[in-house]
Amino acid sequence: MPKITCLECGKPFDVLAPHLRRAHGMSSDDYREQFQLPQGYALVSSEVSESRQQLLLDMVADGRVQRPDQAELTAAARGAGRPDKTPEDKRRHRAIIQQRRPGDHARLPDGAKRADGRNADRAREYQQAYRALRAGDSGPMEQYRRKYG
Ligand SMILES: [Zn+2]
Repeated sequence: MPKITCLECGKPFDVLAPHLRRAHGMSSDDYREQFQLPQGYALVSSEVSESRQQLLLDMVADGRVQRPDQAELTAAARGAGRPDKTPEDKRRHRAIIQQRRPGDHARLPDGAKRADGRNADRAREYQQAYRALRAGDSGPMEQYRRKYG
């Protein structure tokens, strides 16, 4: 369990403030200022910090603690983040998604040949027809056979 070490004397503590007052005659703020620690820097061990956090969460959960500005905070949190998409955004995003699909980066351009020498368009048509056939639709495969004999 990591304790917090007093930067004045090097001794470990769970809670630093009483020690600072008694041994060094300092307040927490004096101490933070002397060692240039940020204002909210907790002067307790990680164990105490976690148990305090948990205690607060428990108290909020069962309603013992309620911030007076709770309602505003909740509303602000709900309203934070991205604004809703406008219809124009939606239209643009749909167009992008229709253009680019997963696997497009690997798709050969129209009229290209595959590495094995086959016509990429024909191979693609065959793949699509074969998938449809496997899924129970023989129409595309019949179309493919008529087209390529
Ligand atoms: Zn000390």
